[in-house]
Amino acid sequence: MNISNNKPYFTGKELEYIADAIKRGSVSGDGYYTRLVTSFIQERFKAKAVFMTTSGTHALEMACMLADLKPGDEVIMPSYTFPSAANAVMMMGARPVFADISEDTLNIDPEDAAKKVTARTKAIMPVHYGGISCDMDKINEIANKNSLYVIEDAAQAVNSAYNGKYLGTVGHFGCYSFHGTKNITSGEGGALLINSDDPEIIRRAGIIRQKGTNREDFLKGDSKRYCWVGTGSSYSPSDILMALLYSQFLELDRIEKRREFIYNYYSMVLKRFADAGVIRTMLIPAWCKPNYHLFFLILRNESERDSVMHELNMRGIGAAIHFVPLHSSPMGIKLGYKPENLKITERAANCLLRLPMHPGLTQEELDTISANLSDILGEL
Ligand SMILES: *Cc1c(COP(=O)(O)O)cnc(C)c1O
Repeated sequence: MNISNNKPYFTGKELEYIADAIKRGSVSGDGYYTRLVTSFIQERFKAKAVFMTTSGTHALEMACMLADLKPGDEVIMPSYTFPSAANAVMMMGARPVFADISEDTLNIDPEDAAKKVTARTKAIMPVHYGGISCDMDKINEIANKNSLYVIEDAAQAVNSAYNGKYLGTVGHFGCYSFHGTKNITSGEGGALLINSDDPEIIRRAGIIRQKGTNREDFLKGDSKRYCWVGTGSSYSPSDILMALLYSQFLELDRIEKRREFIYNYYSMVLKRFADAGVIRTMLIPAWCKPNYHLFFLILRNESERDSVMHELNMRGIGAAIHFVPLHSSPMGIKLGYKPENLKITERAANCLLRLPMHPGLTQEELDTISANLSDILGEL
């Protein structure tokens, strides 16, 4: 048996929707399905303005442009994340400043983030790891006190909520990803949420996304000529991909239910090992409604983690590590960081193990994972 860690899940309706986009001749950006999926996100997540993008990375880049980051500016973010957030900041000539994480959720530690604020800090980028919400009241408090933008990297957190508010709508900007590894996918894709009523920033977002043109005003009839009005790039996804995404969104609840089942199953299997202190399992804080994006456990040390992973992999079970911390990656070292600068991040990255998590897992596969995992953990 070979059980993969992650596998894109298809509901069976995708081809029908893709064929319809093609039949409509709607293949470039901002067509029929882009409008449908934009309103879906707006209504379902109560987002003020939504811009579909070609990736989560591009949504982060747009947020950095809209926050007007300049050379010399600093942006605080966790080191335990994917490189996209740091790249988006660096492409503006600004500097990522890495904060440590909380041991229980592996999300940015608000106290450490607060300590890293300087006169140059312009924004803070909380990452909702595994779809579990950061402590957003504390993050927003730091931001308000220091006049910072809050850019939520909600790439993994579509349909998760913080105290009843959907993630991506809690800060100034929210960035979603619909990459093939995420809960809902268009293969590659993303969205930028702007939580503001300011028509100027929303207009600027439209220009940045449409190659520096006034295409949005022009299509609305607010402008006579379609022309170059500012700087920007090409961030609007093909309508074919948005048709695929829309078909997946219609099944959002069903997809999430299956993930929830898998999450609860693993929790049940692992409870006795967690109680015995052999492992730690994920914590879902009371403020969070999760989307069950990942299931991870934390072993007592790196060598136990490596041996459990190796054993599971040998038995055909796709257990995996996750992020290599940014601060101790080759690029982080170039920026002047040392691994020991962020101790909790290093330890978590070295001891974390992700179990297979995707809606396609069968009960037979889950039972196989459970039996092997119990067997291996029982030996520790
Ligand atoms: C997936 C992911 C991204 C990047 O999203 P893409 O759509 O692949 O560009 C950024 N940040 C985090 C935390 C992610 O998990």
